Amino acid sequence: NDEEAAAKAAALNARSEAPTIFDKIIAKEILSSIVYEDEKVLAFRDINPQAPVHVLIIPKFRDGLTTLAKAEARHGDILGHLLCASKIVAEKEGILDGFRVVINNGPGACQSVYHLHLHVLGGRQLKWPPG
Ligand code: 5GP
Repeated sequence: NDEEAAAKAAALNARSEAPTIFDKIIAKEILSSIVYEDEKVLAFRDINPQAPVHVLIIPKFRDGLTTLAKAEARHGDILGHLLCASKIVAEKEGILDGFRVVINNGPGACQSVYHLHLHVLGGRQLKWPPG
C-alpha cells in the first residue's frame, strides 16, 4: 500500500549518499532567500515555513553528514559552527528571546532531505512538546 511504499522510499533515501536539492541551493542553481552565509554554512528561508521565521542552516560541504546520526569526532567543528550560525540567524531575525533549533534525524523524525540541516524557528509562541 501507499504507506508501506512511502516508508520504503524514506528508508532507502535515508541510506543514500546521493546529492540532494540542497546541493543546488548551495551552487545557487536553485534560488533561495539567503539570510546568512559564510565560508562553511548557508542559511536560507524554508520554502514551506512552519513559523513566521523558519530558516534552514546547512554545511556547504556535507562530508558524510546525511543525518546527525552519521556524526563523528571530525564533525565537531562544523557542528559547533552550525549552532553558532543559528544564534547569528536568530539575532538577525530579531527572535533571540524565543527561538527553537531542530534537527530531524531519519524517517522516524520525518527527515526529508538527507543533507544535515538545522531548522531555526520563531516569531510566534512555540509550544512544547513539539509534534
Ligand atoms: P527535513 O524534513 O528534512 O527536516 O527538512 C527539510 C526542509 O527543507 C523542509 O522543511 C522543506 O520545506 C525544505 N525544503 C525542501 N526543498 C526546499 C527548497 O527547494 N528550497 C527551500 N528553501 N526549502 C526546501
